[in-house]
Amino acid sequence: TCSNTPLLKQTTCAYCGVGCGVDISLLNNTPTKLEGTREHPANFGRLCVKGTHLLDTTGSDNRLTSPLIDNEPASWDAATKYVANRFNAIIKEHGPESVAFYVSGQLLTEDYYVANKLMKGYIGSGNIDTNSRLCMSSAVAGYKRAFGEDVVPCTYEDLEQTELLILIGSNAAWTHPVLYQRMERAKKLNPNMKVVVIDPRKTDTAELADTFLNIKPGSDGALYNGLLNYLSEHNYLDTQFINEHTNGFETALVEAKKWSVKAVSDFCDIDAQLVSDFYALFAKSPTAISFYSMGINQSSSGVDKCNAIINAHLASGKLLKPGCGPFSITGQPNAMGGREVGGLANQLAAHLDIENEAHQQLVQRFWQSPTIAQKAGCNAIDMFDEIAKGKIKAIWVMATNPMVSLPNNAAIQHALEQCELVVVSDCIAKSDTLKFANVAFPSTGWGEKNGTVTNSERRISRQRPLVEPFSGAKNDWQIMCLVAQKMGFEGFDFTDPSGIFEEWAQLTDFENNGDRLLNLSALVGLSQQQYDNLKPVMWPVLKNEPYKNGQVFVNKQFSTADKKARFIPITPKLPVQQTSSDYPFVMNSGRIRDQWHTMSRTGKSTALSTHITRPYIEINPIDASRLNIKANDLITANAKTGQVTAHAKVTDAVRKGECFMPIHWNKQFASSATVSGLYQSVVDPISGQAECKHGAVDLVKA
Ligand code: SF4
Repeated sequence: TCSNTPLLKQTTCAYCGVGCGVDISLLNNTPTKLEGTREHPANFGRLCVKGTHLLDTTGSDNRLTSPLIDNEPASWDAATKYVANRFNAIIKEHGPESVAFYVSGQLLTEDYYVANKLMKGYIGSGNIDTNSRLCMSSAVAGYKRAFGEDVVPCTYEDLEQTELLILIGSNAAWTHPVLYQRMERAKKLNPNMKVVVIDPRKTDTAELADTFLNIKPGSDGALYNGLLNYLSEHNYLDTQFINEHTNGFETALVEAKKWSVKAVSDFCDIDAQLVSDFYALFAKSPTAISFYSMGINQSSSGVDKCNAIINAHLASGKLLKPGCGPFSITGQPNAMGGREVGGLANQLAAHLDIENEAHQQLVQRFWQSPTIAQKAGCNAIDMFDEIAKGKIKAIWVMATNPMVSLPNNAAIQHALEQCELVVVSDCIAKSDTLKFANVAFPSTGWGEKNGTVTNSERRISRQRPLVEPFSGAKNDWQIMCLVAQKMGFEGFDFTDPSGIFEEWAQLTDFENNGDRLLNLSALVGLSQQQYDNLKPVMWPVLKNEPYKNGQVFVNKQFSTADKKARFIPITPKLPVQQTSSDYPFVMNSGRIRDQWHTMSRTGKSTALSTHITRPYIEINPIDASRLNIKANDLITANAKTGQVTAHAKVTDAVRKGECFMPIHWNKQFASSATVSGLYQSVVDPISGQAECKHGAVDLVKA
């Protein structure tokens, strides 16, 4: 029967780590209207243009209607049996390290949880890594080194309570627009609030800046080391906080002392007065936030940069109070949820360590699983290297497109071509990666999926289904359960995401004596209805200590053995991929305002394609003039690993000798201008995060 009364459903946006709530009106099971959820604490009703056009990206266009084996339609039973048998045979012959999962910050926490359980507790390998490795693994390692646990110590409200907002390595105006709007409003409401933007590119975000520091790419660690030195030399240290709540200050200061204002000015290629003015502003401001993103994390020394930032906040006591802290913002809707359930190859679920024997035993005891991974698995980059070497023989790629997103895509192609078994699950039928699939599984997409995501401020929100799964598609957790059961494993009889969430919440509380802040004990035992109706909630959520809910490091107690935070001595390093006479330009890359990652969904929206219609390379007018390049000329960027051709955008937003390309375009969208092909597989040695902001290229007129 038809009804004229719309049904309201609340869900969460599928894109960035802001995690905006979305209200959808449904009439006769068809979404008719979309707006921001007024009461959602992440966005209070606001949406950016990508969120506003979410409904353009759903529907039947570019969807698989059944599993495929060698490009031929197959039943679910046959395809899951085929994958289970092949995985079992490969593991039997070559051991558990011969298989791998490469997953995604697009998965819901429930999907992620099942993937981790299967790989780490049943197959017995650590070889599961996520595309979030490219996004925030340096921030994870930085927080862990400093605080003893991967805990973001800030919330969005802090952005409204600060007197000094520093955006470093972040184009929030385009990448996290709703948070940026919140910053704009906060500045309007508080005339004392100052904004400093630090970036090699003068992006739209710089429009909010009172001060713009146009630093040399990759020099951020020196800038913050110099800040620590300045705080010490000018008596702006919070000695009480340092003495009572930290360790390692003196050692970190020895390194920082090498960074006078003059040394920083030379290294970062900015005016010395600007540097000392910035330091004085930070020192004198009662509150300060350093808001950072991929410009810090995607670096061969990203973890050190994170810790240089954290050091300055620890030394000045500018954290754990309103309007203060080192605030890493995640790129994807559920990068944080993945971190929580062990989505990185070097983690177990619930912030437990994969190489800690007691933690291994704890997780195995909880799962009652036949085995448990004994060591960290391959990170994203190493995983494809190991495939190329023939050591990993089967890979299951879920909800991600590594042929476009990973650096050096010629090497990724080589690896996929020779891999014995490539399984790809996705909510699309065609992508640059799906071309290499021996088995393809149609999975549900946004609007069909059902589960939870966690945003950049640790807030868990429900993604609710608006419509039935697309004909032939299944949820990622269901597909994995079918394969796990056919591999002969018990423990995968979940029938609903609420059952997975329940097990996950129990694990966070299992033998947790308060030594892990990530604890969802108050969410254990939810009924199906309570799970369905779950309101956005920030962890920790504790049954017996509700006064701590949403609060971290209460009483300034950190998650280290002595409850003190750690200063880390930092020796700033230059990016590994340096320019040369053959490759004289620095290539930087990032998102544009209206597209998302490899465009598999936003590329479906006509409205989102009008802002910027084609790939481009930004080049400084001085370089353009020297090379006789004019606006819109086709230019080719040549690197050691590949080349791309795109139209020139001549702009002084980029510094002389540097250029920039968006990350989105790929062959699926009739363009070979995939910037990731220009980067070598260089990673941070601690986090494994790839250096995707600093390649070396030559530019020539095409
Ligand atoms: Fe979605 Fe991010 Fe835009 Fe919010 S800011 S609507 S989460 S893309």
